[in-house]
Amino acid sequence: MRQKRLFLLPIILVTLFCSVSSAPKNGVGKYNQRPHMERKNKVQLPHNVPDGYRIAQGDMLVPQGRKFINWPEGKWPEDPITGWPSVPYVLDEDVEVDRTVIESGLQHWMDNTCITFQETKNESQPHLRFIASDGGCWSYFGRQPQNGQDIMACDTIDVVTHELGHAIGFFHEQSRSDRDAYVKILWENVAPGYESEFQTEDSLNDVEYDYTSVMHYWSTEFSGNGKQTMMPWNPYDEILMYAVYGPFGVLTFRDKLLANIEYGCLDKWSSNCEGSELECLNQGYLGADCKCVCPPGTEGETCETVIGDYYPPLSCGGNVTSPSTIHTPNYPDSYNPLEYCMWWIQAPEDKKVQITFTDFDLCYHDVDADDQLFCNELWDSLEIRLEDPLTPGELYCGESEGQYADADIGPGQQFTSEGSNMFIKFYGSDWNYWRGFTADVDFV
Ligand SMILES: [Zn+2]
Repeated sequence: MRQKRLFLLPIILVTLFCSVSSAPKNGVGKYNQRPHMERKNKVQLPHNVPDGYRIAQGDMLVPQGRKFINWPEGKWPEDPITGWPSVPYVLDEDVEVDRTVIESGLQHWMDNTCITFQETKNESQPHLRFIASDGGCWSYFGRQPQNGQDIMACDTIDVVTHELGHAIGFFHEQSRSDRDAYVKILWENVAPGYESEFQTEDSLNDVEYDYTSVMHYWSTEFSGNGKQTMMPWNPYDEILMYAVYGPFGVLTFRDKLLANIEYGCLDKWSSNCEGSELECLNQGYLGADCKCVCPPGTEGETCETVIGDYYPPLSCGGNVTSPSTIHTPNYPDSYNPLEYCMWWIQAPEDKKVQITFTDFDLCYHDVDADDQLFCNELWDSLEIRLEDPLTPGELYCGESEGQYADADIGPGQQFTSEGSNMFIKFYGSDWNYWRGFTADVDFV
């Protein structure tokens, strides 16, 4: 059980970034030898992720598209005896301490694909070599030609799962060649020198883009000013890129499907089920146990019943098209932990949106490395977009007792949109000790 925190937590350096090294872009031969790194250099998030960790991508529609390396040599080959794709690996002595979590990550992939990971003593063959972290977590993209390729998979299941994705051939989701149809890159907010993190790859897109993929970054990754570097074209979809909403750190249906297509698992399983083959519908596929693996939003033996979308629905907020009052859930009682609401307020074309706060009681500010207070979007915060729904707005936090900062918004404070739209994003941490906010919406 969490105790109410009376003090600001110290900043702990733990979240992840990915960065690509300066290794040659096109790799050597037919392999791609760019090591792919995630760096731990961000503030720890007060979330309910085990161990206090949270990956930095957080990293989806219909018909098919992939996000996979397009050089077949980068795929791990089949074991000549078993016929299943096989990835041999060794663990360096100094990562024995992380063996359990690494094995959990390997097992997660094995439980959901036909890829097998086998610990080996034979180092005269291509294999993964898990080595201790030097502060970062990284992997090469796909299999490399030499006998042994390093991987710093680090020590939490979400990161291990993500790095193993790279090792078997996954790019970041937002690096897919078709990503521009799903996210807008806000170059003006990207930290100088990190532009290459947002380059696209010549990927195979056989499965629909997935905002909740374990390979997707979250919206403020590599930001130079705290504002979003990536915005989904539908602003409500930003919620999907955050841990609190997606199956964070866990392979999504589309992650599994992609691996299973690329490694031939679907054909192998299907031939093993001959005679008892179900015809899986709505993009479901036949799994290892000859049962359909159904995408979220479908159910039934053959995934025949559609009960919702692939993505979960917004739990609070929504479109506001007439003057009204908006407030956090349960107001004036505390909102639920990890509540994340968005309101898209739309006035008639010749009007502007004006909101007037009558109460604003959110979690306090964070402190940065220089002991300066700042509004951390990953604690409680409210973002108000005055320009348009895809242009990031300012963040507002609550009163910081003992740190001598007033709440960023006082009673009676008004905000007016520049055009006829205003977009408001509320992010509630798992510390639900505050009332939240309430505001009147008018069109002026
Ligand atoms: Zn990565």
